Amino acid sequence: MTSIDAVLQLSMLIFLCCLVNQYRGIKTFTLGNIFTIISYIISFSRTFQLSATLVTAGLFLLLGSSISCIGIAQFTDKKIKLHYFLILHLLFIGIQSCFVIFKDVFLFKTITQSAFQIVVFALSIYYLLSNSHKSFVGAARFMASVIFVLILLLIARIVILIGNPPDNLFAHADINSASLLVIFISKFLMTSGFIMMVCQRLYHDLHRSANTDVLTHLLNRRAMMHQLEIAMNQFYRSDRLFAIILIDVDFFKRVNDVYGHGGGDTVLIHLAQILQTKMRKADLASRWGGEEFLILLPDTMLDQAHELAERLRSYVETNPTPSNIQITISLGIAVIRQHGNSLESLITAADHALYAAKNNGRNLVAIANQR
Ligand code: GH3
Ligand code: MG
Ligand code: MG
Repeated sequence: MTSIDAVLQLSMLIFLCCLVNQYRGIKTFTLGNIFTIISYIISFSRTFQLSATLVTAGLFLLLGSSISCIGIAQFTDKKIKLHYFLILHLLFIGIQSCFVIFKDVFLFKTITQSAFQIVVFALSIYYLLSNSHKSFVGAARFMASVIFVLILLLIARIVILIGNPPDNLFAHADINSASLLVIFISKFLMTSGFIMMVCQRLYHDLHRSANTDVLTHLLNRRAMMHQLEIAMNQFYRSDRLFAIILIDVDFFKRVNDVYGHGGGDTVLIHLAQILQTKMRKADLASRWGGEEFLILLPDTMLDQAHELAERLRSYVETNPTPSNIQITISLGIAVIRQHGNSLESLITAADHALYAAKNNGRNLVAIANQR
């Protein structure tokens, strides 16, 4: 059962390797599973003499866990110290060989195998919990919990074996079948956990690229429309006011003409950075189109919106890009209810205000006309 389960999981992982190739670690994690299956094959087929079979199967099991652990580390973009793994395996082979050559004590052999497994599992938990990617924290915690339970069970196994030492492998039939059951369940949960991590990360990355502007890393128009609809619903339901500011770079065509398209792009990036650093935490900025930006200011009255717009205008005017390209911006402000009662009317009002700022000489803030 355990072997069939392992082979099924392996085929799922191989399929995953074929489908998702943008992340590191998936192939390595799968390779770890292959080593684990080899360890099952060795132990069930009793390829060698019993004692050597146990040592070889134990070595492949440890190799399998270690390679999977490295896979987890790669997936979470952690730096891996490969020589630690090498030392661990050499130590394992050394100790296990001593047991085979000098004193073939089943109890100590099993305990050291479990102890080494615990070390590798603890390392896997460390990689999962110190993961800095916020996108798959949930699945990483799930996987860490499964491994933690596995560590507790391995410790329980060691304690039981010490308290009631067996003469040979088959003396503790209960413990052996319980161990197999634990391996069966935990392998299934670990593979599921890893696949969950990949899915969560894929979903997050896909969501981000669908909602983010590639050049400025601000929200794109589609994502901002969604935020505006949320703000609109809150206004209808709870009467929460909000304001929007539409921004357009003055004489941007000239920037492109003088500094080239690349220079124009650096201006857009520079402006996006200013918006992000100068706004309040609750405010949201987006690239609305070409060189136009839209800021959503939740719970904001006209005075506050005007103050922020003026602050942005004067900051942009006095702070050229690092490559010394000087620009100015024009801004149009509109507040819900005061200047429009629907999204369309609000955006049109802000657009008209922006147009007025342009017509009045640019580098200006203009407020929409009262309804
Ligand atoms: P105004 O003061 O009236 O706004 O003058 P303007 O020159 O800025 O006029 P307009 O807003 O019509 O110009 C938009 C220009 O922005 C035209 C287009 O070539 C440029 N543009 C749009 N998207 C990008 C982009 O992603 N990168 C660069 N470098 N330029 C862009
Ligand atoms: Mg424009
Ligand atoms: Mg412009």
